[in-house]
Amino acid sequence: MPDIRSDFYSLSSEDLAAALQELGAPSYRARQVWDWAYRHLVADFEQMTNLPADLRRALSGRYTLAATAGVREETDPASGTRKELLQLSDGETIEAVLMQEPHGRTVCVSTQVGCPMQCTICATGQGGFRRHLTSGEIVTQVVYFSRLLASQTPAERVSNVVFMGMGEPLLNYGPTLAAIARLSDPSGLDISPSRITLSTVGLPERILDLAQVPYAVRLAVSLHAPDEETRRRILPIAGKTSLRELMAACNLYARSRGQRVTFEYVLLAGVNDSPQHARRLVSLIGSLPAHVNLIPLNPVEECDFRPSSRETARDFRAVLSRSRIPCTVRYSRGVSIRAGCGQLRGQER
Ligand code: SAH
Repeated sequence: MPDIRSDFYSLSSEDLAAALQELGAPSYRARQVWDWAYRHLVADFEQMTNLPADLRRALSGRYTLAATAGVREETDPASGTRKELLQLSDGETIEAVLMQEPHGRTVCVSTQVGCPMQCTICATGQGGFRRHLTSGEIVTQVVYFSRLLASQTPAERVSNVVFMGMGEPLLNYGPTLAAIARLSDPSGLDISPSRITLSTVGLPERILDLAQVPYAVRLAVSLHAPDEETRRRILPIAGKTSLRELMAACNLYARSRGQRVTFEYVLLAGVNDSPQHARRLVSLIGSLPAHVNLIPLNPVEECDFRPSSRETARDFRAVLSRSRIPCTVRYSRGVSIRAGCGQLRGQER
């Protein structure tokens, strides 16, 4: 029989208060239930031992604390990067990744099943779009790894979240924002917005909206090219956006938040990696407070592009450095476990 209970992690604290009121429970129960779900990370209402048995039963009948289940896992022994294929209540699957770094534990979350943007470099984009995730389905990806880390000795917690998994977060704006609210809630997982990075293909109007919300998350934009023509080769849909508008929105975001915007730039041999491209990138960025993240291409079967050589990457970076644009080359963790961008799910089909 299909599970018709709703996903607990889709509830806001106001929703929970209203639900408990309907069940006739006093208002202080909301704080207790929230604590169990977000601080103690229990996966079963029966473990909420300070609640009366009938309330536990009523909640168990209506909600589930385990709406996603791990169906397949791969860990890269060298880096500890752990990639999880999670199954949702309707049988769809998404990927979430845990990266164990010296400065903390980062979870990479998905926001859609598939993605409509069709970026040529991305395995998710090649697979097409299935549906948006709910806020609960986004939150449970972090809860999933939080439970895992909490059960280790010594117990650890998720310190950072990056919205860099499957899907385009700004196309699923409401649930993405609701998830950010819940992840950063100080009485819950308490992941500061400054430790949450949202990566987008770059939708200028949505970036302007995001600049208004009370969560100062870090913004990363998949730029990948310094001019519209080259950008359209790599991002056929997102590349239709005017670069002038996109950069203006990024500028506003950076200035209103007092933050640098990260520009992601996948180096593709002979496509966007020449010193001229680097110089155009410098002038496109201009005085915008930015950080450039040069990313070597993760091999994707359907993709015709090739990664740039290390020498080319070094020369590209040198142009940026001479112009004092902070820049890092991110060597992908987890390539050995196909932890890049829709690759585990792709393999399942
Ligand atoms: N939709 C969002 C977030 C998902 S992808 C976005 O476009 O930003 C996260 C980052 O991985 C993006 O910068 C994306 O362009 C990049 N990416 C996708 N496929 C890749 C690949 N095969 N190799 C390296 N980076 C890739």
